[in-house]
Amino acid sequence: MQLIDGKAVSSSVLEDCRAQIEFLSNRGCSPGLAVVLVGDDPASRAYVRSKERTCHELGIHSVKMELSAETTQDELLGIIASLNQDEDVDGILVQSPPPAHIDERAIILAIDPSKDVDGFHPVNVAKLALEEPGGFVPCTPLGCQRLLGHYGIETRGRRVVVVGRSMIVGKPLAMLLMARGDLGDATVTVAHSRTDDLPGVCLDADILVAAVGIPEFIGKDHVKEGAVVIDVGINRVEDKGAKKGYRLVGDVNFDEVASRCRAITPVPGGVGPMTIAMLMSNTVKACAQRRGIDLADLTETGLS
Ligand code: NDP
Repeated sequence: MQLIDGKAVSSSVLEDCRAQIEFLSNRGCSPGLAVVLVGDDPASRAYVRSKERTCHELGIHSVKMELSAETTQDELLGIIASLNQDEDVDGILVQSPPPAHIDERAIILAIDPSKDVDGFHPVNVAKLALEEPGGFVPCTPLGCQRLLGHYGIETRGRRVVVVGRSMIVGKPLAMLLMARGDLGDATVTVAHSRTDDLPGVCLDADILVAAVGIPEFIGKDHVKEGAVVIDVGINRVEDKGAKKGYRLVGDVNFDEVASRCRAITPVPGGVGPMTIAMLMSNTVKACAQRRGIDLADLTETGLS
């Protein structure tokens, strides 16, 4: 059984970003990311802090906007309109979930698709579905695909089962893996809470992805011998023995399934670190695209 090391792969993604940022800087541009947080949800605050920290480490210009929970929909739309106009900002992200009085769909629609580094705007969703280049793909599915690629796990012709049909993980990942080309060409089934005989469906998978949001939901009855398991889940479960009073577990019962897997992601340290790395990668891509710079030139010519 191979443990898929998301920390190591995310470091290599960030190294690629570093080289790309230097390439852009030699051409007079520097990527910028604006992260907007509404309210004071502690988990959201922690995510925003770690995004800001990673921006600093890479030399990405970071704009952090922390707004009170009372911010109105119109105020938030006004801020997004000004970030859309801001030439120093290439990527805009509104940390989810916003307070209940904010209509998240309207916020997503207000973000300029060329700055939508989360890949949630319908224009970017359509580009993914249409297999058009140049769009932005949500960071977590992109991270899952990158992990498979890094470990040389073939997707072409393989049976993939994705458990979960959210617009953040399940659906975009299914579209990525069924798309034509390398790291795609898979035969994808998307399962959800209404799926009949979920274990039977999962047992068919060469690659099983769990994005359910239920701690340790996927057990040995779901996993075929020799399957690759990607656990997207991040759940806090009470643990009185732990310093914080909780520990993080995935949507997969790791101890139960690991021995039958060809490869598996741990939680933490699997998909989690990839999400932020792919956000940085999308931000660098946004900067390059908005300025008409082809990052492929970097791989062809090296740094110049
Ligand atoms: P959602 O709650 O949006 O979606 C969960 C999906 O799981 C739904 O499609 C739901 O089906 C399905 N589901 C729920 N119960 C069952 C069941 N009993 N049997 C089969 N399917 C079921 O979650 P997200 O996609 O946003 O997140 C999924 C997990 O991934 C969470 O643990 C979350 O914390 C984690 N996550 C991790 C990230 C990372 O960076 N690693 C980023 C984003 C999420 P239905 O549609 O029918 O309700």
